[in-house]
Amino acid sequence: MKRVAVIGGGIAGVAAAYELARLAREGAEFQVVLFEASTRLGGIVETVREGGFVIECGPDAWVTEKPWARELAEELGLGDEVMPSNDAGRKTYVLIDKKLQAMPNGMRMMVPADLDALDASEMFSAEAKQAYHDEVRRAEELSANTPTRDESVGEFVRRHFGDEVLEKIGAPLLSGVFGGDVAKLSVRAVMAPFVTMEQEHGSLIAALQSRVSTSKADAIFTTLRSGMGTLVDRMIAAIPEDWVRLSAEVRFVSYGEEGWLVGTPRGVERFDALMMAAPVDVARTLLAPVDENAAQLMEMEASSAVVVGFGFSDAAKFSMPQGFGFLVPRGSDNLLLACTFVDQKFDDRVPQGGRLLRAFFGGKAADRLMRCGNDETAAVARMELARILGPLPEPQMTVVRRWPRSLPQYGVGHLERMSELTERVKTLDGLWLLGNGYRGVGLPDLIRDSRAAARQFVQRNEAAAR
Ligand SMILES: Cc1cc2nc3c(=O)[nH]c(=O)nc-3n(C[C@H](O)[C@H](O)[C@H](O)COP(=O)(O)OP(=O)(O)OC[C@H]3O[C@@H](n4cnc5c(N)ncnc54)[C@H](O)[C@@H]3O)c2cc1C
Repeated sequence: MKRVAVIGGGIAGVAAAYELARLAREGAEFQVVLFEASTRLGGIVETVREGGFVIECGPDAWVTEKPWARELAEELGLGDEVMPSNDAGRKTYVLIDKKLQAMPNGMRMMVPADLDALDASEMFSAEAKQAYHDEVRRAEELSANTPTRDESVGEFVRRHFGDEVLEKIGAPLLSGVFGGDVAKLSVRAVMAPFVTMEQEHGSLIAALQSRVSTSKADAIFTTLRSGMGTLVDRMIAAIPEDWVRLSAEVRFVSYGEEGWLVGTPRGVERFDALMMAAPVDVARTLLAPVDENAAQLMEMEASSAVVVGFGFSDAAKFSMPQGFGFLVPRGSDNLLLACTFVDQKFDDRVPQGGRLLRAFFGGKAADRLMRCGNDETAAVARMELARILGPLPEPQMTVVRRWPRSLPQYGVGHLERMSELTERVKTLDGLWLLGNGYRGVGLPDLIRDSRAAARQFVQRNEAAAR
């Protein structure tokens, strides 16, 4: 019987094992081992539930537009749990000149659908507002000059809207998701829908306006009432227990005529297929002896993240602006990158009368905090929040999580490198590269990819048996 090793039990590895388990229940025959280095499954997906607070240590939602996480949740019987963000109160603030300023209504990232709302906003100078208006008028010119090659997010945003928009909201919005540097991130890899909009309309504003009028206004984010951890828990419940090995760090893999060998401190085992779902740094190191060229293509920068959640029992003790939270542009003297007002973004995250703030640090600040203890990290986060929001009461609960090098940076040319990598991987029979280093960092993409890999394995297996 064919044997599959899944290396890494984050959402990517768990989703692959879950799909394999589903196919096994339908009659497909194979054996699976899921190797996870730590003592728990889920990786960056982790929900802490305590005293009525639901605190996400990693992802807190998925992008509604992409259906694959919702489909999985429904399949797992979590349809009742699927919950939109509270978009009626959606407002995001940016810290400018030490004050929180609301982004104009109707923005999709840095692109406004409503130029009247933009004009009424105090966030931008007259010049930046003019640059927005001009972008619509420049549609033809932008269309004619659409680059044929990849460029950085910074160059793309600057071409459309100029420096001020890039610095005030472009960079902080992108850093809030990727923790990275807009001068290096690939626009084709991380803002593909905007590149399509440019190709179709020249002007991003015109493209957005044409879409807003035709698409129904779904909430931008979707989550689960009891937290994202439930998605992982439900998948685990559907995976045979004897497939899962915790505290099983894979130390080497090799490939040859006999197939794949996977080594952990407990021994070496042979497999016919390998689903590599460990973080890209680990995957690269493990695969370097197998294919040096593939390993080189997997080299990329990664940003670390530190998340600090504060649960307050008495919301009456301090007020927060209405909205989802705020972003902090680089160049301010704050270490913080972003903060989510969790109880306003989603329902059912706090006990009656409670409040939940989630502070997010990325880049260099996260690297520095990586060396601090939990108490020190929480103290820094509280001080940073208090500088912006005013004095905060004593939290009822505090959760600190560090995710070193957890956000791979898709640099300019990423898509081309990934096509090359895909070609190399084809020469290594039975290898799949899964996880957030390759074709998207968001949960829906990871789920779609991992489930597709499991189905491909079974189809190939069945074709070979015929
Ligand atoms: C703070 C933060 C917030 C985020 N927010 C969102 C969000 O709101 N929405 C969204 O869609 N995405 C979000 N993301 C992105 C998303 O959470 C990640 O891309 C995704 O969870 C990564 O899953 P993964 O399975 O690829 O990797 P991981 O979760 O990193 O899992 C990899 C697993 O491999 C294991 N491992 C490592 N080495 C070995 C080894 N040698 N042998 C065996 N196992 C090994 C690790 O222990 C880990 O469990 C966020 C990311 C971060 C860091």
